[in-house]
Amino acid sequence: MSISVENISKLYGEQKALNHVTFKVKKPEIVGFLGPNGAGKSTMMKILTTYIEPSEGQAKVNDFDITAQKKQVQQSVGYLPEHNPLYLEQYVKEYLAFNAQVYGVNKTRIDEVIELTGLTPEAHKKIGQLSKGYRQRVGLANAMLHNPDVLILDEPTTGLDPNQLVDIRNLIKSIGKEKTVFLSTHIMQEVEAMCDRVIIINKGEIVANKTLKELRDDKEQVVIVEFDYRVEDAFLLKLPKVKQVENTHDFVYEITFSTTDDMRSHVFDFAHDNQLKILQLNQKNASLESLFRELTAN
Ligand code: ADP
Ligand code: MG
Repeated sequence: MSISVENISKLYGEQKALNHVTFKVKKPEIVGFLGPNGAGKSTMMKILTTYIEPSEGQAKVNDFDITAQKKQVQQSVGYLPEHNPLYLEQYVKEYLAFNAQVYGVNKTRIDEVIELTGLTPEAHKKIGQLSKGYRQRVGLANAMLHNPDVLILDEPTTGLDPNQLVDIRNLIKSIGKEKTVFLSTHIMQEVEAMCDRVIIINKGEIVANKTLKELRDDKEQVVIVEFDYRVEDAFLLKLPKVKQVENTHDFVYEITFSTTDDMRSHVFDFAHDNQLKILQLNQKNASLESLFRELTAN
């Protein structure tokens, strides 16, 4: 297993940034760690890269324990921090050469990572002269210097213009063919564009963990309807594309449809045909996109 997190909690003083978080990431896999600002994404990533320690729980990266085997963990992961600290006065090659020396990496690797991250045309420039997209490439090249199996990228596409965004997404996708990539984002579309799996975090807790395939097959919709009188479940089961009917209380029914098309008009017609009055009619979309919208709305 590339990443294995078990029951991790993290307290900053009184504040709980992570609350009993558990998940796994296989190799090779691109996993999106999606959550609104303040959800705990960066905290989790700092724990996995050994920058900070958890208050509770265990985690392994490349089967090495993040507290007992820090060195091995550091050798296994490449990290692109959220606010990638770059020295604008340094030349790209100079910056990479300095870090190669710090990490004890052979100098020949510098040209390799420059090539790998598509930095070649800009490699002779000062970091300060580069666009944000190219600066992200420098950060990625740096994270890949020691050829780690696992890449942890904290919001790698935030702040990029649309062209840079496409380029960096493609680069991450190609890296993900051979390596495990665990990347955070607060944008659902980023997950759809790059990832095999999404793990959603909200207020320090995991609220969803699904493959993109599961997500696409997740074509379900729940309509909540209140009639002015009791209806037999069997009656409601005659509605088109209906999957399940539940009488939640009194004359209120939760009807699950196996489609994402808005089915409220069918429920309306049903009521009309059966001389029922509708007192309440709501749609509860079960798709992840709307779940995420609900989470980020507050
Ligand atoms: P995200 O990366 O998802 O935006 P963070 O992991 O940065 O979330 O933060 C999670 C929560 O922990 C936030 O409420 C944040 O304010 C808090 N937090 C993060 N770092 C610290 C810190 N060093 N000290 C105190 N609180 C912190
Ligand atoms: Mg963050």
